[in-house]
Amino acid sequence: MDYICPVCGEKLPRSMEHIVPHTEKHIVDAIKKKNPKWAEKDGTCQKCYDHYKKEMGKQ
Ligand SMILES: [Zn+2]
Repeated sequence: MDYICPVCGEKLPRSMEHIVPHTEKHIVDAIKKKNPKWAEKDGTCQKCYDHYKKEMGKQ
């Protein structure tokens, strides 16, 4: 079964889904700011997670 990343729209294998941990609320907030419909339980792909994590590291 495929997983479609709600953040970038890319189709990936379900195993590539990445759930953002509660402890990384700053990342959750950053994703929500750009994707208001997104919820934590939707997850992201590893690429998006890495992207937002890197963005957060700059601030
Ligand atoms: Zn993505």
